[in-house]
Amino acid sequence: MDDLTNFGGTAEERDIRNHFHAYTNARRHMDVGPMIIEEGSGIHVTDNSGRRYIEGMAGLWSVGVGFQERRLIEAATRQMEKLPFYHNFGHKSHGPAIDFAERLIDIAPVPMSKVFFTNSGSEANDTVLKMVWYRSNALGQPDKKKVIARIRGYHGVTIASASLTGLPYNHRSFDLPLDRVLHIGSPHYWREGRPGETEEEFATRCAEELETLILREGPETIAAFWAEPVMGAGGVIVPPTGYFDKIQAVLAKYDILFVADEVICGFGRTGEMFGSTTYGIRPDVMVLSKQITSSYVPFSAIMMNDRFFGPIAEESDRIGTFGHGFTAGGHPVGAAVALENLAIIEERDLVANAREVGAHFRARLEGLKSSPLVGEVRGVGLIAAIELVEDKATKSVATPGRLGTMMNAALLRNGLISRSMTDAAAFCPPLIITRAQADEMFEIVAKSLAELE
Ligand code: PLP
Repeated sequence: MDDLTNFGGTAEERDIRNHFHAYTNARRHMDVGPMIIEEGSGIHVTDNSGRRYIEGMAGLWSVGVGFQERRLIEAATRQMEKLPFYHNFGHKSHGPAIDFAERLIDIAPVPMSKVFFTNSGSEANDTVLKMVWYRSNALGQPDKKKVIARIRGYHGVTIASASLTGLPYNHRSFDLPLDRVLHIGSPHYWREGRPGETEEEFATRCAEELETLILREGPETIAAFWAEPVMGAGGVIVPPTGYFDKIQAVLAKYDILFVADEVICGFGRTGEMFGSTTYGIRPDVMVLSKQITSSYVPFSAIMMNDRFFGPIAEESDRIGTFGHGFTAGGHPVGAAVALENLAIIEERDLVANAREVGAHFRARLEGLKSSPLVGEVRGVGLIAAIELVEDKATKSVATPGRLGTMMNAALLRNGLISRSMTDAAAFCPPLIITRAQADEMFEIVAKSLAELE
């Protein structure tokens, strides 16, 4: 019987046997095995051996209000009891979606006109790309379909959003990107800036690269530009001074839309409610997810201005319907949790907390620059990274990823969950983190770094 069912064993063995993990070397997982998290509370999580860690990444840059927030649990329960599911297909609607759409329009950093609900960051970006094409057709511009994103940008993993993503892992062997998606270089001054070039000059060069690409392809073929205010998964890349002003000047010249992917930056991460505010971005479209519900339930939203929505509405009238939407888009439980989550962020002023505790934490990280292994410390609000190098003069490492992996392992040994992106160690804790907890987190970073030196 045992041979037939093959059930039983430890949780680790059962995980290896049955569970194909996201973003993992699937073959190696069988040797390495899982880290099983059983419980979360505040900024901490506990594994199945009872060991407690600071969740220095807020899960996946996402659990803003921390784990086990009673108000979110109660909001979800109340909504489950009242109306556990309804949809917004056709002309159907429900209270939580109506309320939350209105709240989003209310807090938008620039005048916005409509909200469309989806379930993940990838779905939202995918949907926006479809909307961009639909809109170009509506405007009688069938050739205006190409979009420009950036190397090291991250926008998700569906066919369209993985195409927008500018990371090799998301393209290789997936036959991506789609050929309507083009990429310009990442705005990482420390890595990409030329000797003697100022940050501002580098930003000018980035904008020139964008304009050159637009002119090469033909401005009439380019519909939209996609950017995260701060690149997250690409390595916490903070834009250089003046970057988005210069980029937006180019986009305006050629009538190109700006899509701000605020999936990580949105809801306080950068020390403002939105990353667009931090960097003076005036987006036509905003993509929101993750901290929108502190990831207690899957939920995402697209906010758009009239310039974007108007032609789409006209086209849906011409065709008879806007033929797009997801069963769970705007899910009442998600919307109820999102409303409560936003209320918590506002009442506790977690945006200010991100600004203040973030500045304190980053100032302490700056002190690590004297380490022979620290090439750069970067960040804004409560998102930061330290870039490890073997040779500070050349900013180089012999084996990319080795130091990052070692640092990640040292941090974990010392009780902090971080994430290494090649040789950058990223920190993105829950927005509720206190100054004392940030100090504790810093001590672990300093200790782990010393172990590597
Ligand atoms: N956009 C950004 C900026 C992200 O960081 C992510 C996920 O990390 C996504 C989109 C994709 O979101 P999801 O994983 O929910 O599909």
